[in-house]
Amino acid sequence: MSKIHQLSPRLANQIAAGEVVERPASVVKEILENSLDADARRLDIDIEEGGIKLIRVRDNGHGIDQEDLTLALSRHATSKILVLDDLEAVATLGFRGEALASIASVSRLTLSSQTEAQEHAWQVTTFGRDMETEVSPCSHPTGTTVEVRDLFFNTPARRKFLKTEKTEFTHIQEIIKRIALSRYDVTINLRHNGRQIYALKACSNAVEQERRMAMLCTPEFVDQSITIEAEASGLRLWGWVGLPTFNRSQADLQYFFVNGRSVRDRVVAHAVKQAYRDVLFHGRHPAYALYLELAPENVDVNVHPTKHEVRFRESRLVHDFLFSRLHRALADVSPETINTTKN
Ligand code: ADP
Ligand code: MG
Repeated sequence: MSKIHQLSPRLANQIAAGEVVERPASVVKEILENSLDADARRLDIDIEEGGIKLIRVRDNGHGIDQEDLTLALSRHATSKILVLDDLEAVATLGFRGEALASIASVSRLTLSSQTEAQEHAWQVTTFGRDMETEVSPCSHPTGTTVEVRDLFFNTPARRKFLKTEKTEFTHIQEIIKRIALSRYDVTINLRHNGRQIYALKACSNAVEQERRMAMLCTPEFVDQSITIEAEASGLRLWGWVGLPTFNRSQADLQYFFVNGRSVRDRVVAHAVKQAYRDVLFHGRHPAYALYLELAPENVDVNVHPTKHEVRFRESRLVHDFLFSRLHRALADVSPETINTTKN
């Protein structure tokens, strides 16, 4: 008797969801990245009960055609890459075609969308072990709304790992903060249980950017940091580096974006640490919000399903560039400290 059988589409998606959908914040991240990939300039985010009850994101991006709605919810379906070569130089935040299918398999998901070309909007929901879909007309301006209700309602083991509503919301807020810091040109509204948390208008100049930075990372950080702007060998670095005197007991104000993507990277962490080594007391942590831009083919983003990590093609070059620019900038503002440690 045969012992092997094919997993149902829902179960296969639920297994995949284990990798990318850890908690409500991961759902928020995937949905917002899709909105940005669709060129949205406005994001309205509604969260209820830490995202466990409801996550709703409305964007004003280019929308999804009616005929693509079902595909958007199926696994390994994406509009972002077609051939392997595309993956070598991917410029979008997403490309795996897994997020919506995964999220839909562990929640009650509705996707509503309208494009410029369509007469009216359509929405899609999915049900059953085969994840069949139902597409029906609806009303929606150009753009997309993703509504995710009752996350993990059908995967009790996952649900058990969720923390309190407050903790889950803190994680969501951190994700949104990173997006807000990576895209100054996007308007972002966030509400939790009906209460407004962020009302961030798109910035059109450096002053407004600095205001957003102060709002999200405290005015003290902006006051006590220097701005940096450097370019060499196809690398561009800009942002804010905290003065050595603005050090922290925890590494809780450290943001690093590579081509608009918030990442944690060992090469970067090491370069920054080295740059601050002579000007910070042992055990203290620097604060920074830095942006690195380079050609997409020089960085591999397909390292981990959540894409928190990247791999630089020329990591030595990136390391030395970061170190030298930061070290120089810090030396300029703290000559005495540097001299003392050297002597
Ligand atoms: P990926 O982002 O890796 O392509 P997803 O499962 O996140 O995979 O999304 C599947 C597809 O659905 C995307 O490739 C895109 O074409 C479409 N899509 C998802 N969200 C949006 C959105 N907010 N606006 C426009 N298209 C979207
Ligand atoms: Mg995606």
